Amino acid sequence: MSKILMYHGIVPEMGSGFVDRERGADLYDVKIDAFKEHLNWLQHNSYRFTVNLNADNKNIVLTFDDGEKNNFELVVPFLKEIKASAYFFVIVDRIGRDGYLSWEDLAVMRMVGFNIGSHGLTHKILTGLSTEVLFEELTKSKFMLESKLRCSIDSISIPRGFYDDKVIAAAKKAGYKQIFVSDKRVGFSEGCFERIAVKGVWTIEDFVMAVTGKIGFKMKLFTMIKTLVRRVFGDRGYDKIRGMILKKR
Ligand SMILES: [Zn+2]
Repeated sequence: MSKILMYHGIVPEMGSGFVDRERGADLYDVKIDAFKEHLNWLQHNSYRFTVNLNADNKNIVLTFDDGEKNNFELVVPFLKEIKASAYFFVIVDRIGRDGYLSWEDLAVMRMVGFNIGSHGLTHKILTGLSTEVLFEELTKSKFMLESKLRCSIDSISIPRGFYDDKVIAAAKKAGYKQIFVSDKRVGFSEGCFERIAVKGVWTIEDFVMAVTGKIGFKMKLFTMIKTLVRRVFGDRGYDKIRGMILKKR
């Protein structure tokens, strides 16, 4: 199977993120030097970068969530240089705001062959929403991207990773063909794609372990705790606890 990597902000230095962004976004920031190191390692180990979700074990699908401006400034030039394609999932309500991609950036990215997808309208957690609000998050974001970029938008990355049957069914109904999540749960197979969340604190060894499937103990433990907390407190409870922890840092 293709391996799908999930990146967020790619920054010149750690801590160089902008003010108006998600709490905890810096946890997923990856330094541009580290990002290049990841891709160089993959290239030297004969992996290819395409947007095909196929059975090829040597295929890497690059995805970027949140639509930050640094994606245009730092990622796009490098990907063009190495002739790699990628998916960029944007929070539609934030397009053009400080620190985020503009419609012009997106049009250029689209023109040079990158895939643009939705990351929701406002980055709301989609589970537990009323049918109307859920529909708006999924459909309005798709419609706005399609009408401004004049292309069909077939993919979505679920904001903040929370989903259930209702969310997936609604996304399919809204016309999304590829639905990207972070951890795939049992029973969600068709059209649902699991990704490896790349973190800024990883060493190149951590990265290699994650890509080659030999997940380290530290990472396994972290996922186990996360799953347990979610099961006990629910998605919103988990998010609240996470917010409290991040505030204290
Ligand atoms: Zn996000």
